[in-house]
Amino acid sequence: MSETADLTTAPSRARAEIDLAALRANVRTLRATAPGAAFMAVVKADGYGHGALPCARAAVEAGATWLGAATPEEALALRADGALPADVRIMCWLWTPGGPWREAVEAGLDVSVSGLWALREVEQAARAAGRPALVQLKADTGLGRNGCPPADWPELVAQALRAEREGLLRITGLWSHFACADEPGHPSIAAQLALFHEMAAHAEKEGARPEVRHIANSPATLTLPETHLDLVRPGIAMYGVSPGPELGSSADLGLRPVMTLAASLALVKHVPGGHGVSYGHHYLTPGETTLGLVPLGYADGVPRHASGTGPVLVGGKWRTAAGRIAMDQFVVDLGGDEPEPGAEAVLFGPGDRGEPTAQDWAQAAGTIGYEIVTRIGVRVPRVYVNE
Ligand SMILES: *Cc1c(COP(=O)(O)O)cnc(C)c1O
Repeated sequence: MSETADLTTAPSRARAEIDLAALRANVRTLRATAPGAAFMAVVKADGYGHGALPCARAAVEAGATWLGAATPEEALALRADGALPADVRIMCWLWTPGGPWREAVEAGLDVSVSGLWALREVEQAARAAGRPALVQLKADTGLGRNGCPPADWPELVAQALRAEREGLLRITGLWSHFACADEPGHPSIAAQLALFHEMAAHAEKEGARPEVRHIANSPATLTLPETHLDLVRPGIAMYGVSPGPELGSSADLGLRPVMTLAASLALVKHVPGGHGVSYGHHYLTPGETTLGLVPLGYADGVPRHASGTGPVLVGGKWRTAAGRIAMDQFVVDLGGDEPEPGAEAVLFGPGDRGEPTAQDWAQAAGTIGYEIVTRIGVRVPRVYVNE
């Protein structure tokens, strides 16, 4: 979990400000988009870099009744948080043999099962814990990643129903995940949804009585109402970042970016024309100018692939990472401006002060907004505002 600090005690080097009012507003917007569905707030990977616990609490305040995590360790940490209501359901889906199944059963987590090895381990854990496991069977409807393929589904369903009759588990959910929900009109979307309905219908015909059937991630929640079913599972949209440029900007989607990443300039200095900047001298000053040193680097999650392209707002103007982004720092050419050392450099934020957004950094680095916010490192304190 990330370090927490408040504005007055945060180190002056750099901070990631997390606007929890924006997160709550995004949750409400998404819930209004899927009014008939329960809301699972996905807070894996430390809340996509925003801090899992504060974001989980804020999402629950805004109406989330489920929390989603990838690993059981993430889910157990959520359950251990006394500030979350005990009746919030917590689900995790990325299991490996020998995982903490018994702890998960004892903590009342909903665990995803994609295959027979996992079913065997969960049954053993339920026996040891002396209480039934809450199991959600995951169907691979075409993503080709986790999930049970259609050919193996009847056997998995039959074995899960047998274990349910033996009192070892309850099948609480049937679920799947999209491959291309962020590409409007992609033919795999309708195909996956149809196959999911078929696989769910099979399980229900055999006797499964799931509380929830679900398949919608952020892009599906935002653009595909027919996929909302009983529950939606948005992650990135809750943090106010667009799932992809094809779907529009955050503002187009009615979302507000939650994270602002800012640093204090560590140095401002005059240099002559033709001066090389940073490792490899990939930038040469075009003339006499001023350089500003931004004390953040790839160890903090600023992508090195954005060397020469990453945008930063300094003194009301967009500047660009000049030369290589290094481990701890990079340089911007200030074009002769002379801000004081300590002046604010905003890498990204909501955009309404004229600063770049995480999407701008994604474009600069050839990646997606998800990766920009999620990789912000532990050395950058998270500062929570509007709690
Ligand atoms: C990460 C994840 C989500 C959330 O995806 P977003 O695109 O961030 O909304 C939903 N379901 C599963 C299984 C995931 O791994």
